[in-house]
Amino acid sequence: MTASSSKKWVVLATGGTIAGLAADVSVASNYQAAQVGAADLLAQWGLAMSGQVVVDQVAQVDSKDMNDALWRTVLRRCQHWRDQADVAGVVLTHGSDTLEETAFLLHWLLPQGCPVVLTGAMLPSNAPNTDGPDNLRLALDWLDSGHAQGVSVAFGGHILHPEWLTKSHADRLSAFTSGDCAPLAIRHNQSWILGDKPKTLRSMWRRPRLEDALAQPDWPRVEVFMHHAQAQPWWLAPEVLAHQPGTPLKGVVLAATGHGTFNEAWQVALSKLAEEGVQVAISSRCAFSTVWPSSQHAGWFYSDHLNAVKTRLALQMTCLAQEVDVRR
Ligand code: ASP
Repeated sequence: MTASSSKKWVVLATGGTIAGLAADVSVASNYQAAQVGAADLLAQWGLAMSGQVVVDQVAQVDSKDMNDALWRTVLRRCQHWRDQADVAGVVLTHGSDTLEETAFLLHWLLPQGCPVVLTGAMLPSNAPNTDGPDNLRLALDWLDSGHAQGVSVAFGGHILHPEWLTKSHADRLSAFTSGDCAPLAIRHNQSWILGDKPKTLRSMWRRPRLEDALAQPDWPRVEVFMHHAQAQPWWLAPEVLAHQPGTPLKGVVLAATGHGTFNEAWQVALSKLAEEGVQVAISSRCAFSTVWPSSQHAGWFYSDHLNAVKTRLALQMTCLAQEVDVRR
């Protein structure tokens, strides 16, 4: 890592395990996420680099509590910093649990600009063998390498693409994988092994403009359901939907079986919802599976290689873009 140029890197911090503290470091798995400020972490780990790294603590949460309002704040802060001429890149520290969702959303909505690299940790900051400093250094090194573009994730020695990565292991330091899609890069002995550019989405999803997504006070409600043996769509019965509190349901993602199969009961329920104007998307409950459009259901969405939680965001953003079109 060099501190040569006058360019700055910004660490945008949101909490997570990387900022966690264990009450008893001999039992590091028992800890509170989001306890230590990023400025203190950088100082403690020797990564403050005298003014070259600017810290912006946007939140201090366990990422299970990530939500639309906080995503809008993160998007705004990313854009604020990317608009500064002397900023060469942004590192976003984030809990690992919903990191893939935030990475995908940023990838989907941020316009071209300097790179954004997400990172986090699996062990709290005071654990003797914490992976936080290595991951943070990896993210900064990836920015420094000049290879980083768009949004990527630096974790466990690998750089991964937001459309492909998923948290596959809750008990390993290498918690993320991108399945059959090779990493964008692997850190090896101070150098980088670069992978091929991965395939990106071909399907019909919409990307609203960032300004439109930020201007919308409430993002459309889109929910994920999982298909399984004997699955029944009880929660989507008209009498149940009619009594649900909150904003009306705008979209449904079914994490279907295999390449996107589901039983007759779901077929009927989803067709009815689609007739009523709810957007329907089919993904897979497999972490890695391609779900292609079916000619049987015109107007439904299909996940391509996105997993179900990322399909939810793609559908939510598609619904949002449609709402913006209607208002114009
Ligand atoms: N629960 C933590 C979070 O997502 C887990 C982590 O950071 O690894 O914030």
